[in-house]
Amino acid sequence: NMSLIYADGQMPHVPEDLTISQFILDGRHPTRPSWVWEHPKAWLIEEATGREIGKEEVQRRVYALANALKMRWNIGEDDVVCIFSHNHVDYIVVVWAVHVLGGTVSTANPTYTAEELSYQLSLTKARLVIADLSTLPVASEGVRASGISPGCLISFDPVSGESYPDVQILIAFGSREAKRYRERRLSEGEGRTKLAFLSFSSGTTGKPKAVMISHYSFIANIVQIAQYLRLNDTQSSSFMKVYDANSVVLGTLPFYHAYGMHMGLLITFFLGASIVVSPKFQFERMLHSIQRYHISHLYVVPPQVVLLCKSPKVKQYDLSSVTYLICGAAPLGAELIEKLARILPNSVIGQGYGMTELATGATSMPLDRRVGEPGSAGVLLPGIVARVVRQDGTVAGFNELGELHLKTPSMSLGYLNDPTATAETFRDGWVHTGDEVIINERKEVFVVDRIKELIKVRGLQVAPSELESHLLDHPDVADVCVVGIPDDFSGELPFAFIVLNDGARVDIEAHKRNPYAIKEAMMAHVAEHKAKYKRLAGVEFADMIPKNPSGKLLRRVLREKAKEMLSQG
Ligand code: AMP
Repeated sequence: NMSLIYADGQMPHVPEDLTISQFILDGRHPTRPSWVWEHPKAWLIEEATGREIGKEEVQRRVYALANALKMRWNIGEDDVVCIFSHNHVDYIVVVWAVHVLGGTVSTANPTYTAEELSYQLSLTKARLVIADLSTLPVASEGVRASGISPGCLISFDPVSGESYPDVQILIAFGSREAKRYRERRLSEGEGRTKLAFLSFSSGTTGKPKAVMISHYSFIANIVQIAQYLRLNDTQSSSFMKVYDANSVVLGTLPFYHAYGMHMGLLITFFLGASIVVSPKFQFERMLHSIQRYHISHLYVVPPQVVLLCKSPKVKQYDLSSVTYLICGAAPLGAELIEKLARILPNSVIGQGYGMTELATGATSMPLDRRVGEPGSAGVLLPGIVARVVRQDGTVAGFNELGELHLKTPSMSLGYLNDPTATAETFRDGWVHTGDEVIINERKEVFVVDRIKELIKVRGLQVAPSELESHLLDHPDVADVCVVGIPDDFSGELPFAFIVLNDGARVDIEAHKRNPYAIKEAMMAHVAEHKAKYKRLAGVEFADMIPKNPSGKLLRRVLREKAKEMLSQG
């Protein structure tokens, strides 16, 4: 078929009988560089202390924790364990310990409120929750709200004066006791369906859903990225070696997000590099860590690029160690990429495009140049087939606009307990990305717009329908539509059009209530119940919400209207 676009490069074999940790800890693979075995070194470095943790220690901790989780909570086949935490050096230890026992890990955004967490816990039927010191209070509330026993909340680190079990004690306990578990092994082909993660995404429409990511999906995506790097290494046009035995990655991307789990932890381990684990992104700390740890690799989101380009603090630090920077999760402004190229003169700079539903990566920047072309999200990774579909359902050619559909070995299995949403996004073997793109003859993807209703704030997902149903709970609201408005720093911010109910409208006309106070109450209603990044940037009253004959909100109309209003001040 002429209209199918095949990625360049052979797709190597992807094992179907290994878990992610077995693939990484013990696995040799043609795409794996030899230095992984020749130069064993620190895998994880704790940002604040400089403490180094090598592969053997990670392995020891994984098995000790698995033993403890088995003995104390009898965690086993298909049990779900939720990690509600900022980045932590033991994050991967918990993930792999659960996998060793045949369980599934559900990762939650650590800035969630108790309500948001409890939604995720109930949806995934989590049995245990692991929190860090700063998320423990919210975790404890969320655990209570979802009916999980308080004894099933575990802290990463010891808490003074509280009775939470913690991962450090459990590891000590598990390594003292005799082994009580059998490591989960997969039969041939089982990796394709055995769940590794339940990661959250709202997909093309509706509320956040649990994306079922198998061990095979993630391994396939590791192989795709490793193969892309390898192909570019051996080509004479290659700008430079992307990874080597001395590579150090800065882990600021949140590990709970598939992008951070993958580019931060898994790829780093697979390629034998080290990762500096940074719990919370703070710009000056990031600059400091780049200098202190001679960071070579940065995986970032657009607001971090904005800061790198605009902050005068950048001049106070030596960033010359950076040789590779990839920005993803949301579109990057064209002018930023060129600015950044001047600030990081030794670095490859470009974009990658991905999606939780694809176990992340679908494209990465072509390495025959140092700086990616403005607007380019990179070339299709090996093993991917793409097509671009016009609005009328016909398939577009090169350089023509349409929705991006992908087939990739890293494709997830769909949404947990949601066959309708699964059928909508995963149709006839294709993932319908909901992104409007063009693809050129080089197989390079340019993301032009987002067709799906999803809003991305600082690279984080905000599902309009989640905010809409929350606002509909407010007594003054008759109807509502939430859209994204452009923002220089955050990319987008949520903005609500609200139809007031008759009571509130009459009150305003009779000067009994102030419309501004009502707007503020709406914003507070969201701020009090939702994570910070979901806060409304503004509220506008509307007489009605435009809908098509079948009742579907016409979001694009209101998105344009919001833009227009804002440009007029
Ligand atoms: P998530 O599942 O949270 O990673 O969100 C995936 C969505 O983020 C994609 O469907 C795109 O809409 C958006 N996205 C990711 N990477 C890029 C990029 N490089 N340029 C534009 N949009 C992106």
